[in-house]
Amino acid sequence: MPIISEAASAFRSRFGFHKPSSDSEIVRSSPAIPKSSSKENFFRSDSSSSSSLNFESESNEIVPRSLNQSFELEEDPSFWKDHNVQVIIRIRPLSNYEISIQGNNKCVRQDSSQTITWNGHPESRFTFDQVADENVTQEKLFHVAGLPMVENCMGGYNSCMFAYGQTGSGKTHTMLGDIEGGTRRHSVNCGMTPRVFEHLFSRIQKEKESRRDEKLKFTCKCSFLEIYNEQILDLLDPSSLNLQIREDAKKGVYVENLKELEVTNARDVMQQLIQ
Ligand code: ADP
Ligand code: MG
Repeated sequence: MPIISEAASAFRSRFGFHKPSSDSEIVRSSPAIPKSSSKENFFRSDSSSSSSLNFESESNEIVPRSLNQSFELEEDPSFWKDHNVQVIIRIRPLSNYEISIQGNNKCVRQDSSQTITWNGHPESRFTFDQVADENVTQEKLFHVAGLPMVENCMGGYNSCMFAYGQTGSGKTHTMLGDIEGGTRRHSVNCGMTPRVFEHLFSRIQKEKESRRDEKLKFTCKCSFLEIYNEQILDLLDPSSLNLQIREDAKKGVYVENLKELEVTNARDVMQQLIQ
């Protein structure tokens, strides 16, 4: 599964900033741009709420809200077909430590299936393609975002999933989760990556079987890299430091001399990842 398909600048430009407007209005990006995330500042005084994300606000202010509403996370098979960039925000539950110091007070609340509001001053509303609240399971999130992405790959398109967030916000939990040494299969908390690869290889198998006559051959290669302090490190060959990004007319942007290993099943991938 290839690397990032959108330049960071293109991604950033999709985060529009909106001036205050009516509090019932849902902010949407222009139709020319795929659905995205956007922000709207406004004041409101009602106390309706649902589950909320916890993060350190600049003012350290946390407004208490009741938990009385939840919104269904939709599974939409055309997830990647109609819009080539999708942004989901996932809200994680408070940790025991956070509850011990601040109780159940949260700094954001969910207003709809697409919007959350930060309860600061001024209140700010953010709109995303989907909001996954703290009750959304790993399996559900995989069905919403991972599964259509694999189908997208099988349809011949590049797919990229990118987790962004401050330390402790839940990136590793979402992308990896409990992998139990690579033999995770039945763990409810196993994350997106093992599920995506399990599904990818099972789809490849099915495709081979249903199109036996065509003698299809699939080749999967994996590579892992880390970008740190503007340097590219090959995680499959840690002696390989400071790799260079190149651009080629045929293969596009690539990392020169990055090790690529052929993999034939999800366990191969997970073992490389664990290594
Ligand atoms: P990050 O990788 O962004 O720094 P982590 O994934 O390590 O954050 O999450 C921080 C902590 O919160 C971990 O203990 C993780 O298990 C827990 N956590 C994160 N998201 C969830 C969630 N959706 N449900 C339950 N626990 C979560
Ligand atoms: Mg992490």
